[in-house]
Amino acid sequence: MPCDIIIIGGGPAGLAFAGGLAGSGLRVTLVERLSLSSLADPADDGREIALTHRSVATLEALDAWRRIAPEAIAPLRAAHVLNGASPLALSFEPDAPAGQPLGWLVANHHIRRALFAAIDEQPGLTLIAGAQVAAARTDRDGASVTLEDGRVLRARLLVAADSRFSAIRAQLNIPAKVTRLGKSMLLARVEHDGDHQGIATEWFDHGQTIALLPLTGRRSSVVLTLPEDQIARLAALAAPALSAELTRRSDGRLGTMRVEGAAHVYPLATVWCRHFAAPRAALIGDAAVGMHPVTAHGFNLGLRGGATLAGLLVRAAARGQDIGAASLLRRYEAVHRFASAPLFLATGAIVGLFTDDRPPARLLRPALLHAAARVTPARAGISRLLMRH
Ligand SMILES: Cc1cc2nc3c(=O)[nH]c(=O)nc-3n(C[C@H](O)[C@H](O)[C@H](O)COP(=O)(O)OP(=O)(O)OC[C@H]3O[C@@H](n4cnc5c(N)ncnc54)[C@H](O)[C@@H]3O)c2cc1C
Repeated sequence: MPCDIIIIGGGPAGLAFAGGLAGSGLRVTLVERLSLSSLADPADDGREIALTHRSVATLEALDAWRRIAPEAIAPLRAAHVLNGASPLALSFEPDAPAGQPLGWLVANHHIRRALFAAIDEQPGLTLIAGAQVAAARTDRDGASVTLEDGRVLRARLLVAADSRFSAIRAQLNIPAKVTRLGKSMLLARVEHDGDHQGIATEWFDHGQTIALLPLTGRRSSVVLTLPEDQIARLAALAAPALSAELTRRSDGRLGTMRVEGAAHVYPLATVWCRHFAAPRAALIGDAAVGMHPVTAHGFNLGLRGGATLAGLLVRAAARGQDIGAASLLRRYEAVHRFASAPLFLATGAIVGLFTDDRPPARLLRPALLHAAARVTPARAGISRLLMRH
């Protein structure tokens, strides 16, 4: 029997969206290629997600936040941006209320685990794990999804949450601009001698970008961006050599570093789609907007877009309206584009300016940082953006 909504992808965006439909009476099927045990207990992927206040409020509403152990949550008290060898640091502090951090850092696997626990056994939700979608198509009447084992599922609406390299997006004929940046990020958790004081540091040095994200205790996540071949070489180092390399590359800012566990590598690519919807279909999460991680907003945006769509669907269902109506999908697209476009463009501009080592960009950077450091409303505005978006 056809269900109401098929969600493809049980990553954090798909899981959160499914949770947002709880209590709606809608019959939802979520298809994920990972096994049930990997969903329930996801492997550590090295990512530390900087969560805004808005995202934490959404995770609370989804009954997921309380499922994350307090010791896995690190407050982000401020963020500093550094340019090359300049001593000037552009500092972002929380705007209000006093005592509130700028945001919180939580490992992606903890978020995924909590979101899964919150939706496990949700009435009306059927989970098909360990199943890969082979083909999906929609028309004005509904959606049809074929799994690799031959099963065919039908629904009134299809929601694709199958990552920034979404195959479903292509099958729905939604054009997307995928930009491969030729660089990779190496992520490593380190223990260090210095005190980070809860401050995140984003250092745009010449030839490399390095972010130091404060975790609990004297621990940080080091995020190093370099051309792909250089990252591959570093990732192959044994822990002591990598520790020495990260200590040197971070200019000893946090003292001697010792790598904990394995390093993880992510090739950098951004994605912007021409549409977030098609007849009886919508894209959410990275499938809709693949942000550059430098402004730490990919999941925050994905959570927001999923909440927007879920809210529209829950209201339509309560009124007995068609949940796959073109007008509803257009509304979702308009609201989510309005939320994402400025962030996507601003992030692209920051990446372009701060990772370009040609003379015009190098000359412009200090001037811009000086100007921004002097204009308090500009800094306060960015802090608000970091906290609430
Ligand atoms: C290094 C790094 C740091 C980041 N830091 C931050 C941060 O600080 N703050 C922030 O907000 N965001 C951050 N992000 C972004 C965030 O991690 C992503 O936005 C988020 O994980 C996207 O979730 P998603 O569910 O859309 O996609 P994914 O996590 O990619 O999940 C997609 C899911 O779909 C499944 N799937 C795919 N195809 C199929 C198929 N055909 N059939 C069945 N299942 C399928 C996959 O198995 C997967 O589980 C960071 C990203 C990176 C790489």
